[in-house]
Amino acid sequence: MHLSVRYDPKEKKFPITNLAHIELKMRHFLTNFAVALTKIKINIKDGTIKKSDRVIGIDLGTTNSLVAIVDPVTREAYCLGEPEDKIVPSVIHIGDDHSVTIGKKAAAYLTVEPEHTVYSVKRLLGRSYTDIAGHAASYGYALVEDQTKAMVNIDIRGRMYNPIELSSYILKALREKAQTLIGEPVSKAVITVPAYFNDSQRQATRDAGKLAGLDVMRIINEPTAASLAYGIGLLKHESKTIAVYDLGGGTFDITILSIQDGVFEVLSTNGDTYTGGDDFDRAIVEYWCLQMQLDLKEAEADQQLYQTLRLEAEKAKKYLSSNESYSRQIKVKDSYLELSLEKDTFESLIKPVVEKTLACCALALQDAGLEVPAIDEVVMVGGSTRTPYVVEKVSGFFHGTHINNSINPDEVVAIGAAIEADILAGNRKDMLLIDVTPLSLGIETVGGMMDTIIPRNTKVPFQAGRQYTTSVDGQSKLKIAVYQGERELVDDNRKLGEFILGNIPAMPAGLPKIDIHFILNADGILKIEATELRSGVRQDIEIKPQYGLTDAQVEDMLLSAMQNAETDMQKRMLAEAKAEAGQVIYYCRKLTGSHSDLLTEHELASIRDMIELLELACNGDDRETINKQIDRLNDMTRPFAEKLMDDAIGKALTGKKLDAL
Ligand code: AMP
Repeated sequence: MHLSVRYDPKEKKFPITNLAHIELKMRHFLTNFAVALTKIKINIKDGTIKKSDRVIGIDLGTTNSLVAIVDPVTREAYCLGEPEDKIVPSVIHIGDDHSVTIGKKAAAYLTVEPEHTVYSVKRLLGRSYTDIAGHAASYGYALVEDQTKAMVNIDIRGRMYNPIELSSYILKALREKAQTLIGEPVSKAVITVPAYFNDSQRQATRDAGKLAGLDVMRIINEPTAASLAYGIGLLKHESKTIAVYDLGGGTFDITILSIQDGVFEVLSTNGDTYTGGDDFDRAIVEYWCLQMQLDLKEAEADQQLYQTLRLEAEKAKKYLSSNESYSRQIKVKDSYLELSLEKDTFESLIKPVVEKTLACCALALQDAGLEVPAIDEVVMVGGSTRTPYVVEKVSGFFHGTHINNSINPDEVVAIGAAIEADILAGNRKDMLLIDVTPLSLGIETVGGMMDTIIPRNTKVPFQAGRQYTTSVDGQSKLKIAVYQGERELVDDNRKLGEFILGNIPAMPAGLPKIDIHFILNADGILKIEATELRSGVRQDIEIKPQYGLTDAQVEDMLLSAMQNAETDMQKRMLAEAKAEAGQVIYYCRKLTGSHSDLLTEHELASIRDMIELLELACNGDDRETINKQIDRLNDMTRPFAEKLMDDAIGKALTGKKLDAL
């Protein structure tokens, strides 16, 4: 009586890959959670939203972090701090008594105490050692090599620190900075993350906020924040497609965003996590070494010389952003070096790096299914977009489309986060409040799993549908149970109702095509239509999804989903493995029974034994063992599947009718 495998409309069939192996296309537990958290609430005519505390906007960056607010009087968004200390380096130093230092003071320890000084912690948030193993050696501090899927730990002075805890120190410092500068307690924030961050990275960021004593009202994408800083997406009925080009010191991201009535949707992202302004500096150092006939390898080996050249290169690069040539004499040890660089030369040196970023832009457009003319505006983010050559080339690539680069590219993300924070605080009475469904809506599938049809935060009205099939031969009725919530298993979510789709004509499992359509109207009323497409049998019901749920209950449900994400995923994978095993056993029994003539007694007995072993494995909770047994049974029955196919083809060739399997 359960729904089973999802129909694949492209293949026009249900995915049955071999005799005993029905591929359950339900491995989407992660994507379920990655529903856009970027949607914003906009424009209210009557200003009825309750005014709440000050909410700060935080750009938690890989290299630098900033905090911004909207001034309650002037309504201007700005970054907090004096010009020289607005930017807080995302560096954490752990002292010998485990005391924590953040920012510039911590950065001073980078060269002298690298093993106690953590930088780029954002690259580790929500990631396991195996995720980052390829780059592990490049960190100056000790990542704990545990080969598990758990979040990586950092061993500092014999104590384990995890990236959430370390990031929370940065957030706490930013929160304290805001409190000191605005003279009020601050407990709410909007934090930005890269658009490509997956659910566990977003969750880790949220947890870091919580640890820092912040109620994280929303996690928003950095490109969305940058657009908001330019006022893009704030107008009602605005419909635009924009490209956000973000070139920092060590990373490059391009994001294509679609904005419609205040809802931001990421169409595609591309980039390179190891490309940025640092490459410009390196190219200059290489050029100078060539000029001075210094061997680059030798220069690199001499850390003092190399670091001096690198810092000079960065100075020269910045100088050339507003001048035509740079020249300086520097002293290294006892010798003097003449360093000079013309703007033209600099541009030819960085050309390959800039071209690499443009190739990423082309790929992002391709992934979004768009051509350059579809882009209405480009937004520039990141310190390296101060280089005029970068702006010139990006402008050329986007055929002269309007380039937004008037806001300080280091501050633009934090400023956008502050604007979003201001909207959420209810201070923008001209903003429309778009209703979104607060929790995901879906149905129960095999194994008691939640299959989300409308993700949470979807703007209403909205409709979406999916196709399913049956898991048992001759099934004439289907129970469709509707749930609300973010947990992987329906038992942990809230049941909204159920109904029966009856009178389905008897068909082999997998053949019925059951279309389940959710229609959510503007009042939050959910209507569900279920139709068996081959027979036309239909049934529908109406459900009020939010009935009886207070805001606090919604919050609680979201919180528990986040807290249980890891265990839920494990449970879901176990339930999936058991469901798959059930299907495999079912088909093996069915086909070995109806075509036993194709097997020897010995083969039949071996298959039976193997089925028993799989059943035994299913009585336990070890997913690995179940999957291993499924594979063994599949391997054992593969020759039989081939014989079955040969037999069927043979019959067809001799004019006989093909048996339905
Ligand atoms: P971000 O990661 O966004 O803070 O960007 C840092 C990068 O921007 C570094 O590579 C800096 O050298 C570079 N940068 C900062 N100021 C300038 C400037 N005036 N011209 C060119 N690059 C700059």
